[in-house]
Amino acid sequence: MNYQEILEDIYKSIKPELKRGKVADYIPALARVKKEQFAMSITLLDGTNYSVGDVDKKFSIQSISKVFTFTKALNIYSKELYKRVGVEPSGNPFNSLVQLEYENGIPRNPFINAGALVVTDSLISYYKDEYRALEKILTFVRDISNNSSIDFDEEVAKSELEYGDRNLALAYLMKSFGNFENSVEKSVSTYFKQCAITMSAKELSRAGLYLANGGVDPITKKEFATLSQTKRINAVMLTCGHYDASGEFAYHVGLPAKSGVGGGILAIIPNVMSIAVWAPSLNRYGNSHAGTLALEEFTTKTGLSIF
Ligand code: GLN
Repeated sequence: MNYQEILEDIYKSIKPELKRGKVADYIPALARVKKEQFAMSITLLDGTNYSVGDVDKKFSIQSISKVFTFTKALNIYSKELYKRVGVEPSGNPFNSLVQLEYENGIPRNPFINAGALVVTDSLISYYKDEYRALEKILTFVRDISNNSSIDFDEEVAKSELEYGDRNLALAYLMKSFGNFENSVEKSVSTYFKQCAITMSAKELSRAGLYLANGGVDPITKKEFATLSQTKRINAVMLTCGHYDASGEFAYHVGLPAKSGVGGGILAIIPNVMSIAVWAPSLNRYGNSHAGTLALEEFTTKTGLSIF
């Protein structure tokens, strides 16, 4: 398969779509990101990489970080974690409050904001304080990327905290139900920092490799999750990775994947490759508009999907 040619064809056909949709403007630092940018990068299990577009340009990974914190929390708590967060699609927007009220403060899944906040809160409890938890999250992301330079953008984290009322509300609501253990301000601010991690498409596709290989990095041989945990992480990515558009994404793309409001998407083809795509302009569900189309074209052209 000529992956390079396929990626270049996708880039060409996706170009007119880059101006559609809008960037995440509820985080002021992200509102400034130029719309018409695109990168797509695939990393095969042997480390071979094929890329097109702005592949080395760093972007805010935002909710894609939820996959990495979910992995860590599963490593630590195993099925105990599910007492605090479920694995069912929410059918609601990523930052919705309503379901949380009538489901007694237990978020549907770890990829909506409420669920991710619980996961980060659980890591802070385990590591005793928020600085140590953040350091462990960063170390994990550096390890899976095999790149010690990965870091977060202070300005993006600060900017989100300034307008963080909805996430603070989610955390306070969960606290009122007894499903939040640490200071709401500290946990939410740690969550914003994890969301503000910046990576290029090339780095992100490298970071996802453990999920394409049963939890073990095929290059460094380090184990980041067990085989059964990896099955579950990918399953939740497939069913919940795109919030209330998860069904549509699975229907069109057919891969476990996680989006972020920075315009990135990480998608996994088990036993074959990890894919990262970035196009900052979002559809009405808060998922990358052109990124989704690019992935659909990729699985259609290559015939590679999990189905
Ligand atoms: N940091 C963002 C938020 O909490 C992440 C949302 C996302 O990427 N969908 O709103």
